[in-house]
Amino acid sequence: MEMEMRAREDIEMGQDVTPPLSPLSFALDDSLLLSHCSACFTPLPPHPHPPPLHPAILYCSPRCSNYDSALHFSSAEPHLLRLLRSRPSAYPHSGGTSDLRLALRFLQSHPSTCRPPPSGRIAGLLTNREKLAARLPPENPEADEIFAIIRDGARAMAAARRTRDGLDGEILTEDARLELEEEAALCLVLTNAVEVQDKSGRTLGVALYGRSFSWINHSCSPNACYRVSLLSEIETLPFSSEESPLRIVPYCAHDKETRLIESGFCSGNVLKTESQSRMCYGPRIIVRSIKRIKKGEEVTVAYTDVLRPKARRQSELWSRYCFICFCKRCGALPPSYVDHALEEISVVNAHSSCANNGFDKDTATEMLTEYIDDAIGDYLSVGDSQSCCEKLSHILTQGLLDEQLEFNEGTSPPTYWLHPLNHLSLNAYTTLASAYKTRANNLVALFSEPHGNLCEAFEMSRTGAAYSLLLAGATNHLFQFEPSLIASVANFWVNAGESLLDFARSSIWSEVCPVASLSSVAKYKCLKCSVTEKVIQICIRRHRKRETDPLHGQVQYSDFANVSNQLLNCVIDYTEKVWFFLIRGCHHLKVFKDPLAFSWFATTGYSDIWASHILSNGINVSSSSGTKENAFEYEAQEFGNSGRICLLQLGLHCLLYGSYLGSICFGEHSHLTCHIQNILKH
Ligand SMILES: [Zn+2]
Ligand SMILES: [Zn+2]
Ligand SMILES: [Zn+2]
Repeated sequence: MEMEMRAREDIEMGQDVTPPLSPLSFALDDSLLLSHCSACFTPLPPHPHPPPLHPAILYCSPRCSNYDSALHFSSAEPHLLRLLRSRPSAYPHSGGTSDLRLALRFLQSHPSTCRPPPSGRIAGLLTNREKLAARLPPENPEADEIFAIIRDGARAMAAARRTRDGLDGEILTEDARLELEEEAALCLVLTNAVEVQDKSGRTLGVALYGRSFSWINHSCSPNACYRVSLLSEIETLPFSSEESPLRIVPYCAHDKETRLIESGFCSGNVLKTESQSRMCYGPRIIVRSIKRIKKGEEVTVAYTDVLRPKARRQSELWSRYCFICFCKRCGALPPSYVDHALEEISVVNAHSSCANNGFDKDTATEMLTEYIDDAIGDYLSVGDSQSCCEKLSHILTQGLLDEQLEFNEGTSPPTYWLHPLNHLSLNAYTTLASAYKTRANNLVALFSEPHGNLCEAFEMSRTGAAYSLLLAGATNHLFQFEPSLIASVANFWVNAGESLLDFARSSIWSEVCPVASLSSVAKYKCLKCSVTEKVIQICIRRHRKRETDPLHGQVQYSDFANVSNQLLNCVIDYTEKVWFFLIRGCHHLKVFKDPLAFSWFATTGYSDIWASHILSNGINVSSSSGTKENAFEYEAQEFGNSGRICLLQLGLHCLLYGSYLGSICFGEHSHLTCHIQNILKH
């Protein structure tokens, strides 16, 4: 039986669809067991004593301890931690033990529901056990990994529970019948649990929510999204969103079940009591509309990153949730423009090669993916940001030369180019923006020879800001075609705004080009648009009276198009004035005449234009060295105060546009708005 959730009334864009829902169960991440409270997930004060040697969990207060410690002990969580500490090889999986501990806690708090292990659902939630655990020789490595997690995890959980009960705690390797109950609970966790993150995006733990949330299906073009709030954050809200109603009802396509729902068996009211009575502790989840939803329409969220190409989304959904997505976006034929762009590569010189038909897009994609993953790995795992920047710039400007194909003498080999909106390109921009920023910060920190380092730091900071603007522009273009990208795009604009403001406010400027007065900017006033004040009011100042929906006390986004257009027009204006300056230090960026104008990629024949564009710009690849120091001073002075003020305004508008989009997805009190307040307070 397939469940879905439908809107019980018309829902405007940017509104809470559910009240904050309490979890059925939750577990803190392994890495935080000794530094955070296991009941409320808040950081603990630094330890006066070295941490205990045996695995233990900690609480911030007697209240938290009272609430959680009985469940901790009775669930066999300590036994599991001890067991796996002494025998790490029994569960060698990278995600840690939080999923297993969550499953143990769930088993303990829902004892009767799992015995005997039901085939389909526990507590109304889908386990997918048959599909997940009985998956025959896995066709892809990710599915294999999940199969191993289930098998090893259920064995370890069962052993921990036997130890708790004073029985033999050996981890059995045969007779899987004993672990069916644990297996079902773990499958349920893998299928339904949600990651809990702090304001900076760090994983705090995992949580499992009841039917009101877990019955919401996936779509690659969803009309809702969700955020998880810690209890401490909800308690500090100026007005209580506890009062907001549950605006969705369960629906089942089968006749029998529909009748059940109608007769009140699982009506919205029952779901509401479920959410209120179960547990008033732990991280809460809130679902929010990112599009207008009509009464009776199905409400969907994304279980995977919707900025990935279709093939990737499908393989992730299949390996983790065992379903093939038939959403409108996935079913579009020909593929939607966004899905086409996200995996498009083009080939140059294919005609000159005798192996004309040798252009194999799959092979090229594989090679490009490997190359880019390798470069990003240099940065993420080894911390070598310089090598990463060089490799990524190389592949973006030079393309991938197909040296394996034979070609006639005197002709150029075929070269594969990433579409500038290919998801690999987007990954590359993300990494470059971050890597250049890191390099700039490192250089400033080194700061031994005053001028030399500063010039380079200035360059790096500038190029990083340019890439973050390019990323925001590129994804904003895709967002025009696929409105569900709003959450990703919001983050990219905020990052761009932050990088641009960092760069514009950098102390390095004062060495060569002190700005006389930034007061006009400091007041966040823009002479061109009338909305900055309004947006600040919505996103940042909490106490003013706001234009709210009389029914649910929520901010209205009825003039969304007008506000975004005004902000974007200003972004375009300011970008025109500063882009030439931002890209001076980077050859790859010079191929983008305007980081916000991607619409010509939506036309046919873009590929030829793009290729000739890159080729003509790629000629001067050798870096123009010279007296760098003087060049830097000259450039900065030439750009001048007015240029720098444009940079500040651009940064501010990007930040506001990002926070405006973010307030739609995450509400006016989200991590994003706190973050923005911090940036602006500077
Ligand atoms: Zn606590
Ligand atoms: Zn889909
Ligand atoms: Zn403006």
